[in-house]
Formats: sequence, structure tokens, C-alpha cells
Amino acid sequence: MSSAQSNATPMGLPARISLRDVGPRDGLQIEAPIAVEDRVRLIELLIASGIRRIEAGSFVSPKAVPAMAGSAEVFARVPRRADVTLTALVPNRRGAEAALEAHADELTVICSASETYSMQNVRMTIAQSLEAAGEICALAGPAGVPVEAVVSCSFGSPYEGDIAPEEVRKLAQVALDRGATRVTLADTTGMATPRRVRELLDVVGTDVGLHLHETRGTAMLNAYVAMQVGVTSFDTSVGGLGGSPFAAGAAGNLATEDFVAMLDDIGVETGIDLERLLEASTALEALVGHPLASRVAAAGPRLPRA
Ligand code: ZN
Repeated sequence: MSSAQSNATPMGLPARISLRDVGPRDGLQIEAPIAVEDRVRLIELLIASGIRRIEAGSFVSPKAVPAMAGSAEVFARVPRRADVTLTALVPNRRGAEAALEAHADELTVICSASETYSMQNVRMTIAQSLEAAGEICALAGPAGVPVEAVVSCSFGSPYEGDIAPEEVRKLAQVALDRGATRVTLADTTGMATPRRVRELLDVVGTDVGLHLHETRGTAMLNAYVAMQVGVTSFDTSVGGLGGSPFAAGAAGNLATEDFVAMLDDIGVETGIDLERLLEASTALEALVGHPLASRVAAAGPRLPRA
């Protein structure tokens, strides 16, 4: 029986959503560097679980982010499939050139809604980051490679507080005008609440992706509220890995395992096999050498496989 014929579940949620696993980039970037072959293996395990969009690496200075050194090799060594999209985070033109050379399927550029966070995180003003986004799009467009603009601090900034939804909408629109093909709103510093999610989506619209962090324990609730109003695209991270070196008390991303387990139970399709995803979690835990934040990785599924 397929629920693909209906476009909503009995709980009023979308029948199907798509997840991008950002663990191999957003997650691993703050861990001690692990070998390229292990990064490749993790990505292969994620693909085997049914995940079809994966942030596989970033093309940034290896001095600034040692754990992402060798990303070109990661892209070269993951066996490519037509139905799998490997995305690469790039900060500037040079990074975009390297990512295109490595045959990234899609590029991601960050534009912050917070001026201070932008300076601290990428040492660029918002205007400069939008300029960089334009340059990246000008390179990727002719190569037929989509560019996603991630608006960090969309839900609030530790420096400037709540940023007006209209400001976030304008920023997203500028990114689209400069050639970005999609927009994701990121809760980089864990300031999203269901109220903030609704306020922002009411103004920006629901044709956006959401990138949610667990910093204040509201990531799953925020995702649920977003699904209720029609958002169908989310960034999650295997094991709940992640955090930001620039945000006090930052915690990881919404854990892919936890979200998939909840979605399975309420009948929202993801195309992901939880049991196989947990095999990736087990491998990941050994690679990073510490317990994962994911609750389902720790406790297992609520029901044994039928
Ligand atoms: Zn993140």
C-alpha cells in the first residue's frame, strides 16, 4: 500500500518529505579529522540507507577547518549514482571552482541574516556574502550545477536577537535574484521556537528547506510545526552530529535517526530504512570515538522490525 496517492497524512502532514544528511560536512567539521576513506564509507552507508541528498564536504581553507581537508578526494571516491545528489559547501569563488572540478552535484553557499555572526563566521559582511553568492552562481549556473543559499541565523542571532522576518525574506530574495536555485533557512545558533518558525514561514513562504539545531531542545518540535504548514525539505545529521564553533553552547543538528523514527511512526515517507541508517550510526560512533547525540541511535527503534 502506498500513501503516495494522497498528499497528506491523517495527522495533516505532508505524505512525503525529503531529507539532506549534513553529517559528513556540518557534523564532521567540528570533530577531530577522520580519514578520507572513512568519510567515504560513512557516505556510502547513508546512501545504502536510502538517503538521496548528502552534504559530502566543503571546499574551505584546510587551515580553518582541518576536518574538511581532502573533500575533493571524498567526492572523487564516492561511487556516483544518478539518483544521489552530493552537495558541497563553498565560501567563495575559489571554493566553487574546486567543488565544480570535483564534480559536486550541487553547491551550498551561506549568507547570514546576522551581520555580527557573518563577520565572525565567514569574515564577510552580509553584503559581501551576497556578492560572493552571486559570483558562485555565475560559475555554477553555466555548468548546470544548482546553488542553494543557506540563510544562517534566520531564526535569531546571539548578537542581534530576533531578526525581522521581512529582513530574512528580502535576503532570501536577493540570493535568488543572484542565481541561487533554492533557499534553506538555518537555525545555526539554536534560537528557533515553534512561534519563530511560524512567524518566519508566514512571511518567507514554505517553499524553503529548514536546517535545525538541537541547541535548546526544540529541533524536532520546530520541524513538526514546519511540516504542519507544508515544508517538505529538511537538513538533518546522522547521529545528531554538528555544532558551531562560533555559537556559545551550540549543539548538533536534528538527528536523522530520531526524525526518521518519528516520521515512520506517523506515516510520513522519507524513503529511508531506519535499520540500515542505524548501521551508519554504529559505524559513525566508532569513527568519532564518542557517544552520539541521537536518542534513537542510543535506544534503538521503538518496535522491532516486522
Ligand atoms: Zn548546521
